[in-house]
Amino acid sequence: MQQKITHCLICERSLQFTFGWKELFKRELPKMICESCEKKFQRIETQEEEGTVSLFHYNETMKDFLHRYKFLHDILLAHVFNQVLQQHLKHEKSIIVPIPMHVDSLKKRTFAHVDELLKAAHIPFEHHLIKITGEQQSLKSRQERLQTPQLFEIIEHSKIRNKNILLIDDIYTTGTTIQHAKRALKEAGAMEVRAFTLIHG
Ligand SMILES: [Zn+2]
Repeated sequence: MQQKITHCLICERSLQFTFGWKELFKRELPKMICESCEKKFQRIETQEEEGTVSLFHYNETMKDFLHRYKFLHDILLAHVFNQVLQQHLKHEKSIIVPIPMHVDSLKKRTFAHVDELLKAAHIPFEHHLIKITGEQQSLKSRQERLQTPQLFEIIEHSKIRNKNILLIDDIYTTGTTIQHAKRALKEAGAMEVRAFTLIHG
């Protein structure tokens, strides 16, 4: 990112910059939110559910964040979690694969929200999945979700065969999206598929 952030991305209060040796020496990304906003996001203590690690609870602050980021298209907010995502993913050995958006949703949103979170955290990723249905899983009943035949297609099987993969999504709600993506990758020959989400809904 070119421009320097001087105000908290959430509340717009001025950021007290301790910017200097710490960021340069430890190569940390600059902080984008103030301490008081940081405290309002609630970290998850037991982090894993069915092979998926999540970092934050879906509380009111997170709900507002997602609304502004995803539905009001405030792309700058992709940087709110730059440090925490970098810390968690920088030593990852598996191929990092974001859950993709359906092409119609991408047109509406204008940017891929999961990709932007990773870019802001300087985490390299690869796309290996295509979303083939634009239907929103959370609007369906459990029965309907289980009957959905397939949500994803693999772009090129040979690129994931015998590879370890870490799927990335913004939020884990019903788990359906992650399960579908895992299944598609496994069927295409991936060795181990884990998942990581910023939020657990
Ligand atoms: Zn703030």
